[in-house]
Amino acid sequence: MSSEERPEASDAELAQRLESVRSRIAEAARDAGRAAEEIALIVITKFHPAELVRRLARLGIGDVGENRHQEAQAKAAELDDLALRWHFVGQLQTKKARQAAQYAHAIHSIDRERLVDALATAEVADPIDAFVQINLTEDPARGGAAPGELERIAERVLATRTLRLRGVMAVAPLPEEEPAASAFARLREYSERLRALEPSAAAISAGMTHDFPEAVAAGATHLRIGSAITGNRPPAG
Ligand SMILES: *Cc1c(COP(=O)(O)O)cnc(C)c1O
Repeated sequence: MSSEERPEASDAELAQRLESVRSRIAEAARDAGRAAEEIALIVITKFHPAELVRRLARLGIGDVGENRHQEAQAKAAELDDLALRWHFVGQLQTKKARQAAQYAHAIHSIDRERLVDALATAEVADPIDAFVQINLTEDPARGGAAPGELERIAERVLATRTLRLRGVMAVAPLPEEEPAASAFARLREYSERLRALEPSAAAISAGMTHDFPEAVAAGATHLRIGSAITGNRPPAG
């Protein structure tokens, strides 16, 4: 069997991995003196077929995340019969913003004012949850706004009726660049800056397969976990 034909995880495997991730979240929360119930789990399903998302929904998952617009749009359409909340977590082109607003309940990658302005013209029934993504590295190619732009972008979101400012989002630097714990400590400072501007925007979207316990310790409220639950991703299509 070639790697492209590698089967997806069985239902039993999926359930077992979910259980294991949930218990590690509970443990990290306990260590941090936090309630696990205040931490949302978003399962990142990028590159996996819609059928896997359907099976996750049957296991009780309500929040799923994708990082590419076309793939997200297709899956959301195919799974229209499920009451899933779709989280967009990847770089979003300005010209695709209005389309993403059709299915996205949350956009975690708000990184520039032009994107906010494009989303301002979207037709939405309810405001979309908006997270300002901050780049925790010096490399602009990693995605996210420079920390100095946080307030300016946040003010723009606050002035936009189609969006509801929820908090900050970040991806940790590579472990050899900086340990996740110290990077997430800075993210928490950015979160405090945002709360000074808008007290209700207290959410912190951080933590992936390899660093979610550190994210929980630093106060993350939204974990974006993929491969620890879905297994390794199929090659990008
Ligand atoms: C892929 C991705 C994740 C999940 O990554 P895993 O390491 O598979 O848990 C989280 N956040 C973003 C922005 C991603 O692109």
